[in-house]
Amino acid sequence: MDSCGIVDGNGRFAMMIYALIAVIIVGLVWFVFARGLVQTVLMTELLRGLLVTQKTTLRRKETIQFPDESLPVSNRFRGLLALRRYPNGEERCIGCKLCEVTCPALAITIETQPRDDGSRRTTRFDIDMFKCINCGLCEQACPVDSIVSTPEMHYVVTSRGQNIMTKDKLLELGTALEPKLALDRQLIHEGEG
Ligand code: SF4
Ligand code: SF4
Repeated sequence: MDSCGIVDGNGRFAMMIYALIAVIIVGLVWFVFARGLVQTVLMTELLRGLLVTQKTTLRRKETIQFPDESLPVSNRFRGLLALRRYPNGEERCIGCKLCEVTCPALAITIETQPRDDGSRRTTRFDIDMFKCINCGLCEQACPVDSIVSTPEMHYVVTSRGQNIMTKDKLLELGTALEPKLALDRQLIHEGEG
C-alpha cells in the first residue's frame, strides 16, 4: 500500500490469496458440518446398521450337530499344548528353556540334565493349564518346533492336579497328533496355513 492508501499490485494479489484460502477453509468446515447434519437428520448411519441386521436375519441358518459334527478348525488354532518327537522317536526338546522364559503367564516349569552322550534333555516339563492363556508365544520361541499348540479344545479338569500337563502327557498328545501337527507346521512354514 502506498502512502495514499492505494493498494499496489503485489498487495492486491496477496489479499486475493488470503481470501481464497479463507473461502476454502470455510467451505471445508461447512462440508464436514453439513455432512454430519445430513447424516443426523436422515439417520443414514442408523439405516445402514439396520440394513446389516436385516441381511444377517435373512441369511440361511446353518445348524451344526455337535459333537457329531464340528466346524473346520484353523491349522493355527491354539488349543492344548503338546511336545513333539522326531520320526525316530527322539524328543525334539533340547531343554533350552526359551519357552519357559517367554511365557507371559509363567505357566511352564522346566528342569534339565545332561545325558551320558553330552546332549541336554528335560527331566521335568510341566505346563499349568490354569495359568496358560494359549497365547502361542512358547511355540514361536521354540527353535526346534518341539512345543506346539494343537487343535485339541475339548478337555476338562475334574480333580486337583489334572491342570498340570506333565512331560509324559505332553509327549503322549504330541505323538498321537503328530501327522496332523507335522502337516500344519509344513503349511504354516510355507505360508499357506
Ligand atoms: S501358550 Fe502362552 S501362556 Fe500358554 S504356556 Fe505357551 S507361552 Fe505360556
Ligand atoms: S520346548 Fe522348545 S523352547 Fe521349550 S525348552 Fe524345549 S526346545 Fe526349548
